[in-house]
Amino acid sequence: MSKSCNEERAGLDRGSISRREMLALAGAGPVLLLAGGLKAATRSQTRKPNILVIISDDQGYADVGFHGCKDIPTPSIDSLAQNGIRFSSGYVSCPVCSPTRAGLMTARYQQRFGHEFNTGPPPTSLMEHVGLPLTETTMAEVLKAAGYVTGAVGKWHLGMRPQYHPLERGFDEFFGFQHGGHSYIKLAPDDYNPIQRGRKPVHEKEYLTDAFSREAVAFINRHRDELFFLYVTYNAVHTPMQATERYLKRFPDIKDQKRRTYAAMLSAMDDGIGAILKKLREVGIENDTLIFFLSDNGGPTQANASSNDPLRAGKGTMYEGGTRVPFVVQWKRKLPAGKVYDHPVISLDIFPTVVAAAATQMPADRAIDGVNLLPYLTGEHRTPPHETLFWRSGDRYAMRQGKWKLVKLGDRSPELYDLSEDISETTNLAQQKPDLVQELKKALNNWESKLQKPLWTPSRRRR
Ligand code: CA
Repeated sequence: MSKSCNEERAGLDRGSISRREMLALAGAGPVLLLAGGLKAATRSQTRKPNILVIISDDQGYADVGFHGCKDIPTPSIDSLAQNGIRFSSGYVSCPVCSPTRAGLMTARYQQRFGHEFNTGPPPTSLMEHVGLPLTETTMAEVLKAAGYVTGAVGKWHLGMRPQYHPLERGFDEFFGFQHGGHSYIKLAPDDYNPIQRGRKPVHEKEYLTDAFSREAVAFINRHRDELFFLYVTYNAVHTPMQATERYLKRFPDIKDQKRRTYAAMLSAMDDGIGAILKKLREVGIENDTLIFFLSDNGGPTQANASSNDPLRAGKGTMYEGGTRVPFVVQWKRKLPAGKVYDHPVISLDIFPTVVAAAATQMPADRAIDGVNLLPYLTGEHRTPPHETLFWRSGDRYAMRQGKWKLVKLGDRSPELYDLSEDISETTNLAQQKPDLVQELKKALNNWESKLQKPLWTPSRRRR
């Protein structure tokens, strides 16, 4: 901790002040002292926000009201866009679950540290080296060190071995499961992938999506007077396709039974997000909570009847349907409402953004790929946050630079799309623009030179 922060803490000890206020002021920096002491700082100028990151699993780009979904109302997710900013080109760093989460937790392209593939079913998932490498520093560790209470609720999918457990990676509390998927009903005790409270397996009786919502609400209530980071990772709307009558009966008009079940699962999650937001309002901290919502990858349309329209393909692919997702941010105190941000952003940006909001620091001993989005979202910076974005999964690559998207799949010739004219990636322009293809390939090669070999090989089952 810097000298100035220590001086401020010493000063704060003289007065009557809550832990939340003390932590908030401690991060405000020397400006306070220069401005003539603590009295010059108002709460609204110095208050650090709570951090809430909500992830859905395998939700399609088109399956939110703010992207035009008609058959499944998502009023609570939509409210985040109405009260915040939605990203029309919001990406994740991988088209499948676990690598995206590794990137999100570290703000680094996960291929930099070999977390390139899903952790797979046993025996791969149970190997000692399969999990978010212990050399990485997580968002939870950084926020915990900055005085935040940290909680994870839901699907972890960053390693099954004890050393990769959320409680070893910066979280004070955990309720959820460690692997990549779970049943939603008939939650009998399961030796391999149990629902856990902390590290202890529990017998959960509620529909799992409702249970996660209940636990998230309880966490907020428990820590309402503290600064907190809550990471809520629903496994909805990932397979298995399971819903309860309570939600199914909302969709009598959807004839496709898989789509109807998907609708019910999504509706349950939206209700849960509504309950979480209601709790924040009830306890008076909604304005001071920075909230991100996104899906961890695009929809696997065959598996769960999701829709990525108008994007091409879906989960597991290098096309837009694999990596462009519903993605919103809300922070009522600091960010505008009802805005659309069109420059590309990526899930790697969440960690630097919340660290800036929390007035703390990113790890300084390693390359960070994410960008603090706050000055871009407030309009202070008008340039795009990223010149280029890259994806790699084995021998499949993609890259975005401005309006251009390069796709390179194995031995096939490169494909080039102009996303400003062709969001559906229907017209390959590689033949017409060979110089541009070469330029993009060079940038891709340069990026790849900084990556490691994958630490484990892919499994056939995608989770
Ligand atoms: Ca997923």
